[in-house]
This record gives sequence, structure tokens and C-alpha cells, in this order.
Amino acid sequence: MAPPLPRGDDILARRHGVLAEVQEHYYDTPPRIERGWREYLIDLDGRVYLDMVNNVASVGHAHPRVADAATRQLNLLNTNSRFHYRVITEYAERIAQTLPAELDTVFFVNSGSEAADLALRLAMASTGRTDIVAMREAYHGWTFASDAVSTSIADNPNALATRPEWVHTVAAANPYRGIHRGDDAERYGPEAVAVIDHLAASGHAPAGLICETFFGNAGGVALPPGYLAQVYEAIRRHGGLAIADEVQVGFGRLGEWFWGFEQQRVVPDIVAVAKSIGAGHPIGAVITRREIADRYRTQGYFFSSTGGSPVSAAIGLAVLDVIEQEGLQQNARVVGAHLKRRLERLAESHPIVGAVHGAGLYLGVEFVRDRITLEPATDETAAICDRLLTLGVIMQPTGDYLNVLKIKPPLCVSLESVDYFVDSLDRVLTMGW
Ligand code: PMP
Repeated sequence: MAPPLPRGDDILARRHGVLAEVQEHYYDTPPRIERGWREYLIDLDGRVYLDMVNNVASVGHAHPRVADAATRQLNLLNTNSRFHYRVITEYAERIAQTLPAELDTVFFVNSGSEAADLALRLAMASTGRTDIVAMREAYHGWTFASDAVSTSIADNPNALATRPEWVHTVAAANPYRGIHRGDDAERYGPEAVAVIDHLAASGHAPAGLICETFFGNAGGVALPPGYLAQVYEAIRRHGGLAIADEVQVGFGRLGEWFWGFEQQRVVPDIVAVAKSIGAGHPIGAVITRREIADRYRTQGYFFSSTGGSPVSAAIGLAVLDVIEQEGLQQNARVVGAHLKRRLERLAESHPIVGAVHGAGLYLGVEFVRDRITLEPATDETAAICDRLLTLGVIMQPTGDYLNVLKIKPPLCVSLESVDYFVDSLDRVLTMGW
């Protein structure tokens, strides 16, 4: 029998005492999570929660194949990535195989922030320029460069006012809540092109443009049809590169598409990915064309001690195997479509549901106080998330106004689990929060 779990200690108070205050945790009084299994989390008292928010645990919590791969590799060899070992090559080949043929060269790092940072530096090194175009209301990471292109006011209320001068922004191409709505959303593309043209004409031809390929930070909002084709064409016409941040939305989560850029029918020059590819283990990757990668030399050499380490690569391979062999992209498509249909039905009886965004298992339920003005129901969203916790569902808000439920469960989530989620949400919306 397993030994009894320690209880009644002051671990939360100690956490507050020793960790930086800005390093937040979910919930004011969070359950203390001890274990995970598939889409479930289990707390100290043995209470089971349905984890509807965790795209990091992409293949499910504590997947035995991932755990076995990590243990086996740890017992054999784990070292820095300058050594010559088999698994880094195999993993790089497998990642490249998921992408269009020209994206054939891989860098390994340890996180999404590092991947976005490296992608920006590659664009700068490759073009010999420093100006970058970024979409507003985005989050790309905490490192110096990835933070510079992050403009979400949910993360930093002063975001737009404090960007360095090399960062130029275009409107968040959100057809639901952005400056152009509905049919008017077709204006985002030409307006962003005009910004890029203007920069080039004024001597600031950009090194690149960075944005999510499917608007994850807004709760899984699809960009307007043709948007990326227009802005990628403009950036390339002026000699810059198209950077796709696939950290949230890539790697099978969208169901119909393995990569978010496929939904927009474009191919980027540089792809940044992380989070789900390591199923919780820190792995990030940047994939680009050989000639772009080679230009990094102008900045020196590239070395990340643990980026692509034997253990990271073994875990990454196991994650890819699980996605393929357990049909998780297909599960995202089928279960995601069922979940989206059920959420859309909730909108019929609950006026607070302004819209249901997304595809596959990246969905967003946007709460508004008024369906015409779209006044964000921010406080209500926080209260609904707290109330869902009492029903055993882990859910968190996203978006600049924190009024969108960020629905991105492990890709193995079952139909029964998503039904439980919708039933619980229905109950909260009906009974009050
Ligand atoms: N890009 C996007 C779109 C993200 O959502 C995030 C993290 N939420 C990052 C980059 C940064 O990833 P990480 O937290 O692994 O550094």
C-alpha cells in the first residue's frame, strides 16, 4: 500500500514565502494536486478534478509511455546537446516530417519563450535588420525579445506603451471583438499590409512578422480567411520572414489541422513550438529552412545545454508516437466538434454566452454582459471558473479582458468528460455563480 500522503502542512504559505509574488498560481485557495491521470487531476484528499485547461499535458497526465521513455533514457544517458547521440537526430527528423518539406532544419530549446526569442533572432540574423511586426493582444513569452513582442494587456496593462522601438504592431485580427467585426474583418489583412508597406517605405523594412496562426490568446479565434496569406506576402515582398507561433495551437490540437498555419493555407518561414510537444517536460523547438538557419552564424554559434538533451528527445519522440498511435489528433477533431456543438447550444439559453470560438480541442466560450456592445463579463468569468472548481472542473479565463473560458484539455479527453464539463457549466450558468 502507498504510504499516507502528508497533510495539514503549510506548503502554500511556504510557497508564498519563498517564490516571487508575481509567479502566480491558479485560484486563491487552490487544491493541492498530487497526481494526474489522463484528463484528471487528483488532490491530496483524493478528490478528482477534470482538467479542461491543460494543453501542456497534451497526451494526458502521467502517460506511461512518456514516463517509461523518460525513465529509460535517464537510466542510460542524459547530457548536454553538444555530445553525439542517436535520439536528438531521430527526434529532429520526426518533427521535420510533420512539416512542409522546405522546413527541414531544427533547433532545440527548452520553452515557448525561448523558441519565440530564437525565432525573432533568426529573422534578424537572416535579414540583417532589427524591426519586427507583431500582432496586438498577443503573448509570446517572458524572455527579453519574446516579451517585447507581447502586447496582451491581461499580462501587462502597460504593454502597448512600453514596447521597444523596434516593435511595430498591427491590429489584433479578431473578427468577434476586434476593431473590425463580422464581415468587416476582411479589412484586417489590407490594413496590416499597409503598416508593413509604410515601414518599408520609411526605411524600417521589417526583419519579420510574428503572430499566432490561430488566435490562441483570444480563446481560439480563427484569423479571418486569407489573413496570413496577405500579410506573409507583404512581409516577404519587402525581404522579411514570416514567423508562426504554434506554441499553443500547433501539434494536432486543432483536430483538422496538425499545425495552425495549415488552417490559413500558408507556409511560414520559421515555426516556434513548445508546451505540448514535451507533455510537461520542458522542450521547445524552432524549425526553419536551411539557409535561414545557416545565417545564425552571423551572430556566433548556437548552444542550449539541455535543448534537445537525450531525455528531452526521448520524451519528444514518445509524445509523437502517442499522438500517432492513439489517434489523438483525430480525437481532438471528433470530441472537439461534439464539445463545440454542445457549447453552442448553451448560447441559446444563456445570454451571457456571446460566442463560442475555436476548432478541435482549442475552444473559447466568450462571456459578455451585452451581445450588442460586447461588454466583457470579466468578474462573472472569474466567478464561473471558481464555481466550476467546486464541481470538480479546472477552467481558467483568457483574452485581454479575461472573459473567455480557455478550453484546451489533454488531447485524450473522452466524450463523457466533455459532457460532464458542459453539464457543469450549464448548471453554473442556470443556478448562478
Ligand atoms: N507563445 C504562446 C502563444 C504562448 O501562449 C506561450 C505561453 N503561454 C508562449 C509562447 C511561451 O511559452 P513558455 O511559457 O513555454 O515559455
